[in-house]
Amino acid sequence: MIIGVPKESIDGENRVAIIPESVKKLVSNRFEIFVEKGAGVNAGYLDSEYEEAGAKLVGGFADMAKADIITKVHHISGNEGSVLKDNAAVFSFQDALNQKDNIELFNKKNVTAFAMEFIPRITLAQSMDVLSSMATIAGYKAVLLATEEFGKFLPMLMTAAGTIPPAKVLILGAGVAGLQAIATARRLGAVVEAFDTRPMVKEQVMSLGAKFIEIDFTEDAQDDQGYAKELSEEFYKKEMELIDKHLSKSDICITTALVFGKQAPTLIHDYMVENMKPGSVIVDLAVEKGGNCTVSKPGKVVNHKGVKVIGPVNLASSMPDHASRMYSKNIENLLVYLNDKENQGNIVLNTEDEIVNRSLVTHKGKMVSEIVKSFS
Ligand code: NAD
Repeated sequence: MIIGVPKESIDGENRVAIIPESVKKLVSNRFEIFVEKGAGVNAGYLDSEYEEAGAKLVGGFADMAKADIITKVHHISGNEGSVLKDNAAVFSFQDALNQKDNIELFNKKNVTAFAMEFIPRITLAQSMDVLSSMATIAGYKAVLLATEEFGKFLPMLMTAAGTIPPAKVLILGAGVAGLQAIATARRLGAVVEAFDTRPMVKEQVMSLGAKFIEIDFTEDAQDDQGYAKELSEEFYKKEMELIDKHLSKSDICITTALVFGKQAPTLIHDYMVENMKPGSVIVDLAVEKGGNCTVSKPGKVVNHKGVKVIGPVNLASSMPDHASRMYSKNIENLLVYLNDKENQGNIVLNTEDEIVNRSLVTHKGKMVSEIVKSFS
C-alpha cells in the first residue's frame, strides 16, 4: 500500500505526520511512501532526508490521489476531501465529535478513518498515544510561556544584591500536560502545588516533588476509561473556594483541566484572577475547549488588572521538531501494529481488536464509532 504524507494545510501548523526515521521503518515493513515536497521543512525535516529514507517526493496534495493511506496531523479540510480515493484510509486527528461533514464524505467514499484522538489509554496502545505526546509538549511549553511573561526568577537565588525567594506555581489538572508542567517548573526551581479531581494522581504529583492539594469532598471523579468525569455543581463550588485560596498565594498558575467530549470546566472566575498579586501569570491550556479561566482568550495574552492571562493555541506546533517526531512514532507504531503479517505492506483490520475498535470512526461506508454515537 502507498502511504501519503501531505504538507499540513492549516495556517500556522508546522508539524508533519511522518518524519524520515518513520519512513525507513515503514519501508522496511514493505509500505511505499509518497511525501509532498516541503511537507517536513517547517519541522526541520528536509526533502532530501525523506528521499534518503526511501520516500518518493510528489508535487502537491493532488498527488495524494494515488495513496491508499493518508497520514495527517489535522483532519481533512478544504479541497483535500475531493482528492481522497475511494476505499482509502485516513489516519489523523479527526475532531470526530465535530467534523460531521467529513464523516459524511468518508461514508460516501468508503473511506476508513482512524481518529488518533480516540486511541485508547491502555498499556498496549501507550506507544500510539498521540494525546499524551502532544500534552507532554503543551505542559512543558506552558511553563516556558509563563516564565516569559513573569517578571521574576523561578528559582531561589542568593545574590550579593539579596535573596530572591522561589516562585510559587499552582497546577490545576495533573494529567499528562499537568504532570509535565510540574516537572518543568520543578526543574526551574519553583515551589509547586497541584490539584486534580482524580485523587489517584496524588502519588504521581508527589513523586515529581510537588505538593498535592486535598479537597474535603468526595465524589466519584473517574469514568471507566480513566478520564475525569463532569462533577456536581456543589463539588465545583467547593473546588473554586479551594483554588481561590491557593491562587491568591501563587505567582504562576498553569491550568489544564479537561473533561472528555465536554467544554472545559470553569475553575477560575474574574474575581479570583483579581485576588492574585499583580505581575502573576495564568496559562490556560484548556482555552481551545472553552477555557478553565473566564478571562482567557484563544491566542491572546490578556492583562487583567495586572495579571497576565495567556490562552495558547496549538502549542504543539510551536515545538514542531519533537512534536512531529513523537506524533510520527505514534502513527508508525499503529501502522506497524496493523500491518498484515502474511502480506506485509498492507493493513488488516480486526474490528474486535480494542485499539481498532475504539479509534475507528468510519469503515465500509458506515459511521462505526461508539464514542461519536454516545455524544450525538
Ligand atoms: P485530560 O487532558 O483529559 O485532562 C487533564 C486533567 O484534568 C486530568 O488529569 C483530569 O483529571 C483533570 N481534571 C478534569 N476536571 C478537573 C477539575 N474540575 N479540576 C481539576 N482537574 C480536573 O487528561 P489526560 O492527561 O489526557 O489523561 C486522561 C486519562 O488517561 C488519565 O486518567 C491518565 O492517567 C490516563 N492515561 C493513561 C495512559 C496509559 O497508558 N494507561 C496514558 C496516558 C493517560
